Formats: sequence, structure tokens, C-alpha cells
Amino acid sequence: MHKTIHEQKTLLLNTTPYTINIIRTSRRKRSIALSIPSHENITIRAPLRTTIQEIDTFLSQQTNWLIKKIIVLQNYAALKEEHKKNLDLTPYSKQQILTKFLERATFWSTQLKVEFKKLLLSNAKKRWGSCTAENVIRINAVLIKVPVELLDYVIVHELCHVRHKNHSPYFWKMVASVMPDYQTRRNQLNQLGCSLL
Ligand SMILES: [Zn+2]
Repeated sequence: MHKTIHEQKTLLLNTTPYTINIIRTSRRKRSIALSIPSHENITIRAPLRTTIQEIDTFLSQQTNWLIKKIIVLQNYAALKEEHKKNLDLTPYSKQQILTKFLERATFWSTQLKVEFKKLLLSNAKKRWGSCTAENVIRINAVLIKVPVELLDYVIVHELCHVRHKNHSPYFWKMVASVMPDYQTRRNQLNQLGCSLL
């Protein structure tokens, strides 16, 4: 028979208390593992014979990592909430959205030294943007709702496709040349993805 002990422990991180679920189980043979799928769900899994002292030592070694992870997850959760509330595009007219997108695209095309033929709005269900063989760029209208840094990432991405019609290392090098932190922006956008599209 397998044996499992469930416990909870409160950990103070930067003066905020967090509940840690501790699961000690005979199903687990070796290492202690920490999982944090959201800032409200922190779980430690350990072999049954692990003592609470060992778990405390493990936790204290992971504190810095845990704090960083919680901050990132909290930011994402806040952004997601914000954008769920704002999904409706009605306060913006198509013309307003297009004007804003064109303004950003013009700025970035100068930075990148590329020219696009035309910019159109899209309402695709699964894409942020696209760039045709003829360099017609489409940007998802819903991006009017996200912070401009994330809109800029999509615009830069599509503008780089004017030169590189693929995602080769040359393509990503071009993106990074004007936006060194593009990976962070892309991650944030992907996190928002399900609530926006
Ligand atoms: Zn692409």
C-alpha cells in the first residue's frame, strides 16, 4: 500500500504569507521537488521519509527562486485579469486602431530599414499577425488592448518577415537588433494569448 501525508505550511516571502502544500508520499523515491503552476498553488513533493527539517532546508535554499517566480506569475495574472475585462473593442473605432498600428509600424520600419506595402487589421482567432509574400502586413485588432511594448513586438516580428520569410536565426537576429528583450515580450503575449484570442 502507498502512503501519503498531506500538510500545509505558511511561508513568509517579502512579508507576504504564502501557503505551501507539502505532500510526502511513498510513491516518490528520491528527490524533493517544488512546483508552482500559479502563485496561489505552491507544492512540494517529497519521499515519505523526508523530515520537516529537510523540507525547511530545501525551502530556504529555494527562497530567491521562489520569490522571482511568484512575482512573474502575479504580473501575468494581473495582466490577464485586466485584459479579460477589456476584451470588447467598442471604445475604439477601426480607424483609431489602424492609425495607432500604422504609427508604430512606420516608426519600426524606419528603425529596421524595411518597407511594407500595406497594413491591414485582422480579427484572426489564432494569430497576432502575418506578412504576405507581397509584404502586406496584418495585425490583429485585439492588440489595441495590450501594452504598447507587446504590440510593438508583433509589429517588429512581421516587419522582419519583409526581409526574412521564415524564422531562421537571421530573422531572430534582425528582431533582436532593434528589440533585445523580444523574448520577454513574446512570453508575456503568449501568456495573454488564451484570454485575448
Ligand atoms: Zn513569424
